[in-house]
Amino acid sequence: MTEPSGNEIAELRRKISVLEQDVQHLVSHDQLTGLLIRSALLKRVERHLAEGRASGQQCAVIEIGVRGIPRIAGALGRHVGDYVISALAARLSNAIPSDCLICRLDYWSFAVFLPRISDALEALTTAKRLIELLDQPIDWVERTLTVEAAAGVALDTKLDTDAALLVHRAGLAYKAATEKGGPGYAFFNPALEQAAKRRQDVQLAVHEALEKHYFSLAFQPYFNAASGELAGMEALIRLNHPTLGFISPAEFIPVAEETGAIQKIGAWVLVEACRVAANWPPHLLVSINFSPEQFMSGHLLSDVHNALELSSFPAYRMEVEITESTMLGDTEMISSQLTALRELGCQIVMDDFGTGYSSLSYLWKFPFSKLKIDRSFVQAMDTKPQVKGMMRTILDLARNLGLKVTAEGIETVEQAKMLRDHHCDFIQGYLCGKPVPEADVAAVIMTRFAASLRNMQAPPEELPAAPLRFEF
Ligand code: C2E
Ligand code: CA
Ligand code: CA
Repeated sequence: MTEPSGNEIAELRRKISVLEQDVQHLVSHDQLTGLLIRSALLKRVERHLAEGRASGQQCAVIEIGVRGIPRIAGALGRHVGDYVISALAARLSNAIPSDCLICRLDYWSFAVFLPRISDALEALTTAKRLIELLDQPIDWVERTLTVEAAAGVALDTKLDTDAALLVHRAGLAYKAATEKGGPGYAFFNPALEQAAKRRQDVQLAVHEALEKHYFSLAFQPYFNAASGELAGMEALIRLNHPTLGFISPAEFIPVAEETGAIQKIGAWVLVEACRVAANWPPHLLVSINFSPEQFMSGHLLSDVHNALELSSFPAYRMEVEITESTMLGDTEMISSQLTALRELGCQIVMDDFGTGYSSLSYLWKFPFSKLKIDRSFVQAMDTKPQVKGMMRTILDLARNLGLKVTAEGIETVEQAKMLRDHHCDFIQGYLCGKPVPEADVAAVIMTRFAASLRNMQAPPEELPAAPLRFEF
């Protein structure tokens, strides 16, 4: 074998160098979009920060993402979702100056690094411009596809962050921007970091509560508005943590939904609520709150069967409370589960009516038997006269559809009277009874039973007013 010439060695070196560059490009760029991947972005931003510190140059990271990809991918296929992502990536690449960096963070979010900004306004203007750009429709075959963009901005104005922290902060701001339902953008602020820490603590507390049995149920009574008789109780979950103290379900249920822990929690609530309610007089119902995520698990029906069977509790005494957000999911899948629950004998209740879209079409598309009018709506009756008129319309509509109505959050006698006079079927709220622990449920039942007996003995002309004198 002859030794390679100097030229050949040089050529070999050149080829190896090209190959190395290719490999380098391959491992630092996303295959679908050709954009940098997270680790590559962090390295470059770190380098920039190290070099830029001396010059006092301020910089910013914008996390920008879109909502709507799962909807598109679900309807038209994952390849169309991928097409949309690459189209959006191309738009971003063309729109940012060449000294900026851009990376694909997650399936549907990107990070843009602005190495030189004069102030916060400049970063905000860029973020808004990019949002507008991604909001533009995308053509696909003969369709027009749309997504909804949001952006979070983190600034390095004090020159005190590192690359990972800056990207993390932009992520927190992005999350806030998607939650707000506001203008679609948000700046990082330290309160977001505290909120994220609290979410983390609550997430751990939920995990621990499942393992160590810290959950309990409270029961809030509801009454027949005309007769004042106890009609049933709503099971409301409680979490008392040894170090964090009482955590409201309004706080930990969304966290449990995010992490998937809601599946176990939901199954536990079902078993526990049926166990307790099985000891009540047979005319009393138990209402149970269901999260939308429980309908995605595939085992909701078997969880319900299991809970009913364990306590020999009849399905007709169980009310399933769902909110409008449940109906926003896969309509066919939700509808078939609700129909199966209805066929089993359960009642289906639309909770929080008057807070969401209040789309009336849900009322006949899904097998509801009852509407529960939200507390905020009841409270608005006191201050806004037109809400009283709306309440009457809802009650008439429900009657025409054969639905019963519960008004929740009743705190004053005036509210209770007004609802009773307009033939609302049931009332629930602090006026008639706060949620109580299992140990106090028997007392609630006995007190109401005694009140009903007194009403029976009262002269008939006193009857209409008597039920509203709740004594606990
Ligand atoms: P929700 O289903 O709308 O329950 C009513 C909430 O209003 C309860 O809060 C109840 O204590 C409170 N409330 C009742 N009457 C009054 C009143 O007159 N005035 C005022 N100011 N408040 C009243 P809670 O127990 O903190 O529950 C909050 C939410 O957490 C519930 O709202 C429900 O969405 C959710 N939740 C509670 N338990 C469960 C559960 O077991 N599973 C699921 N998925 N969600 C649950
Ligand atoms: Ca409820
Ligand atoms: Ca409610």
